Amino acid sequence: MMSQSVVFSAITGNDGVAIGVACVLPTKNRAIPPSTISKEEVNHHVDSFRRARSLLSEEISDIAQAVADTSTVDILAAQDQILQDPEIEESVIAYVKGAKYSARYAIYLTFCEVMERMRESGSEMLIQRIVDLEDIRDRLVVLASEEEQEQLSVNGFILVAREISPTDLVTYYEGGIKGLVLEKGGITSHAAIIARSLQIPCLVGVKGVTAYVEQGSTLVMDGPEGKLIANPGKDILREYERHIEHRRQEKKRRRAAIKAPSQTMDGVPFKLLANLEFEEEVGEVASVQAEGIGLLRTEGLLFKGERNRNETIQTNFYRSILSSIKGICVIRLFDIGGDKLRDKRFEEANPFLGWRGVRLLLDEKELLHAQLRAIVRVSAEFPERVRLLIPMVTVPQEVVAIKDELQVITTELANEGIHLKAPVPVGVMIEVPSVALQASLFGKHADFFSFGTNDLTQYTLAADRGNERVCQLYQLLDPSVFKLIHIAIEGAKQTQTPLCVCGEVAGDPIGAAVLVGLGINELSMVPVSVPKVKEMLISYSHAQLQHLAREVLTVATAAEVKTLFHSLKNTKNGTN
Ligand code: PEP
Ligand code: MG
Repeated sequence: MMSQSVVFSAITGNDGVAIGVACVLPTKNRAIPPSTISKEEVNHHVDSFRRARSLLSEEISDIAQAVADTSTVDILAAQDQILQDPEIEESVIAYVKGAKYSARYAIYLTFCEVMERMRESGSEMLIQRIVDLEDIRDRLVVLASEEEQEQLSVNGFILVAREISPTDLVTYYEGGIKGLVLEKGGITSHAAIIARSLQIPCLVGVKGVTAYVEQGSTLVMDGPEGKLIANPGKDILREYERHIEHRRQEKKRRRAAIKAPSQTMDGVPFKLLANLEFEEEVGEVASVQAEGIGLLRTEGLLFKGERNRNETIQTNFYRSILSSIKGICVIRLFDIGGDKLRDKRFEEANPFLGWRGVRLLLDEKELLHAQLRAIVRVSAEFPERVRLLIPMVTVPQEVVAIKDELQVITTELANEGIHLKAPVPVGVMIEVPSVALQASLFGKHADFFSFGTNDLTQYTLAADRGNERVCQLYQLLDPSVFKLIHIAIEGAKQTQTPLCVCGEVAGDPIGAAVLVGLGINELSMVPVSVPKVKEMLISYSHAQLQHLAREVLTVATAAEVKTLFHSLKNTKNGTN
């Protein structure tokens, strides 16, 4: 039992401060501590076990259907057999009903006992099957815990987990979590981006946290300093309460700057747009006065697992967003793959270099067509406000292929009586170096470009954006990425293709300063970042930002970029 104060170092996923009670989610390969339930909860826990078992069984049969290799199919069949074993069921239920153990602990105990018997048998064949049992045990425990959590009130809790899927994060957000602490992940991992969107303080890469933090212990999350304090003393708690109040006041002050016109001190205009993923965020777009949506991530539509989310559901979602905001809405086609909604049926050694974004869409025409139809429909309803953005483009043929598909769908809908006033503008994401280096070639096919710097950074530095072990290499302000952006800007000039940046660097005041200095005047970011970026941009002249950008192109590290920005700030204040 850990009760003395312990400080963990962390990577700041979302720069907030929070004080709360820990709710630790169980993880794979972790000993499950005994947990008991009340008489009234028995039925719920029996159901949780049964639901978890059928979910796992479905998952196994989905995988079995998708693989061709017979030995894998045999292993999967054997796993399913273990899962359905009546003795296991009997034992789990007996533990829940008799000893009043929670479903997860009853499962854990039952499987551990069976494995122990297999080990003691001395039979080589049985011993070899232990790993299968261990795997099933861990998957079942995780699923059962999720089922149990459905009943658990997380309101006011700080969620502590090894990692979390976007779907679960949104569910916990709706349940009222106060903060999120993850053992895995980097600053632009998907969970961290969603946490920023939903304004949940978030720390990632907190090593060992799920093993050490006790359920129900008090936690302090310090985003600015990148640390987590477990079991803080009274003085520390008081200090952080003051800190939270101070930040609240600061936020208020920033919002006051929102009313100023979006232009640098010498009158050069810029446009700040919002990145959006969930309907819950739409109110924030108006409240920070973003001029539209520069990136609507659509993967959230598929989080519940329905690959074929139909056209009507999609159309309703896009319509609801468009009718709640002013200005344009850039709808990005599904960017499945990488760390988002990876298809469990197809294990890839390098998912970020694999079947992802437009590569997948061009293979899954049904999915693509439903989305294109929904986009064309809303474009007809909201003329000149809808744009389409293609993710993970690598070669020009992908853009041409999507445009061909769009043309077919536009004609199809016209035959159904849905006419567009003007074609839907098609944009290309610049998130792979091949596109940045050859922007002039892509510009022949694209109506606009949008820099996805989260991916562009990982592909430039060969550092996985979600891997905490290489996060030192993955730096949002790495000058090599600004150099690539500069090359792309020069290329785009040849075709006069407009540019926007929608990666996380746009929402970082230093990043935004460099980007505007490089010549970009449209930035899209999580809504909460709009006030602080605007406050910074309106306090410099464009000439100063251009000077900063020129200097940035000559340095080698993110630390030097920060130093350059701070010396610019000092010049402004007349202290240098
Ligand atoms: C990006 O890569 O910068 C981006 C905006 O897309 P996502 O973070 O969704 O991959
Ligand atoms: Mg991306």
